[in-house]
Amino acid sequence: MENVIIIGTGCAGYTAAIYTGRANLNPLILSGNQPGGQLTTTTEVENFPGYPDGIMGPELMMNMQTQAEKFGARIEYTLVTSVEKAPEGHFNITSEDGTVRQTRTVIVATGASPRHLGLPNEKSLIGHGLTSCATCDGAFYRNVPVCVIGGGDSACEEANFLTRFASTVYLIHRRDTLRASKIMADRALANPKIKPVWNSTVAEYLTDEKGEVRAVMLENLVTGEKSELELKCVFVAIGHVPNAGFLGGLVDKDENGYILQTEGTRTKTEGLFAAGDVADHVYRQAITAAGQGCASALEAERYLADLGVH
Ligand code: NAP
Repeated sequence: MENVIIIGTGCAGYTAAIYTGRANLNPLILSGNQPGGQLTTTTEVENFPGYPDGIMGPELMMNMQTQAEKFGARIEYTLVTSVEKAPEGHFNITSEDGTVRQTRTVIVATGASPRHLGLPNEKSLIGHGLTSCATCDGAFYRNVPVCVIGGGDSACEEANFLTRFASTVYLIHRRDTLRASKIMADRALANPKIKPVWNSTVAEYLTDEKGEVRAVMLENLVTGEKSELELKCVFVAIGHVPNAGFLGGLVDKDENGYILQTEGTRTKTEGLFAAGDVADHVYRQAITAAGQGCASALEAERYLADLGVH
């Protein structure tokens, strides 16, 4: 029987592992299918405190892994398919190979995956002029045109943020009205650097000889007309999908599928904690996920102490 199983290896998961490891709880981490999480898909991280010169996303995650292992955390590379609470009070965690592991507490730190359009070369362009994180990558695109795809709060927020750097921000939306809240929509539409492209979708990403994005092929969904729009980076902001589908009825979720925390990182199921982007659609930053990972570890530690495990 494990004391703590942490599901996920992003900032929240590794931070939870560092804290539970240091508390001698011998945590086991189950990696998921993207070891290192979302930061492994970015390049330089300039806003993680403690790195005044920035650090590459994958390197930051390797450092976190090393730090967690230093305190005794063990990592197994597997994808969890279900979690159940046994009548005796512990959890049974099943992974894709059929292995069932038992644990007294679970920290769910599985993050959220950015939704993509599903175009053929999309995944390979991540980090080469295609991203879903303006806060992470916006500063790399100074005085050049970029676009944001989407019409929700995220798209408007990202477009506004990007006007600090880019020469023009095209806001490409599939309809002629924004889904975003009025205040966010008004702010975006009033910004002279943001140029809406209505009733349009991106049909194709066009690349230069180095394989970097150089333009998108727009398709007007009303007229069917296609046209090329030159730009240096595409910010896809069509929503995130929290990775919480495997938890069944153990957690309550909001209308977008994010886990609802009750107090701190607790959930409606005692002994099951949720940290990071799987429960946070507001901040979605590496440092806030790490903070929640820390909080979940402290709460799991207290829960175990109440069970008499020290
Ligand atoms: P969202 O509200 O679900 O908006 C997604 C947008 O992407 C919609 O405009 C949608 O178009 C478009 N879209 C979806 N699939 C698409 C596709 N395949 N092709 C083209 N466009 C597509 O997602 P979100 O903006 O990430 O927001 C998620 C939640 O977080 C919301 O509740 C939001 O209010 C909240 N949030 C709040 C703030 C804030 O208050 N500061 C900031 C960010 C997010 P349609 O409009 O046509 O459906």
